[in-house]
Amino acid sequence: MGVSEKSRKILWVQAGGLCAICKEQVITPGTASDDPSVFGEEAHIVARSGGGPRAGGTAEDLINHHANLILLCSKDHKRVDDQPNHFNVDRLRQIKADHELWVRSLLDADKEPFPT
Ligand SMILES: [Zn+2]
Repeated sequence: MGVSEKSRKILWVQAGGLCAICKEQVITPGTASDDPSVFGEEAHIVARSGGGPRAGGTAEDLINHHANLILLCSKDHKRVDDQPNHFNVDRLRQIKADHELWVRSLLDADKEPFPT
């Protein structure tokens, strides 16, 4: 089973539509005749396949859970997969947690209280 629609939505909202590493918005602007181009990718923190760079240690049904996914641009997804010694599971979990806290703090800072 792949990543569910719900897990996907949770991941993208919590990441604010931004790459967790470079903080770039992971869609391009659209044009008058074309939709935006999406280059955000849902990267697995603990890899899905046995041969992946960060495989093992997580039960199969948790692999595609949003808690095991990190939103990255295509460049940083490749970098993470190519540099597994640096981007290990612990580091990716920390990057994800820091990024989601940062997004939350930006949203909270701009929030006007509802008029009562
Ligand atoms: Zn990026």
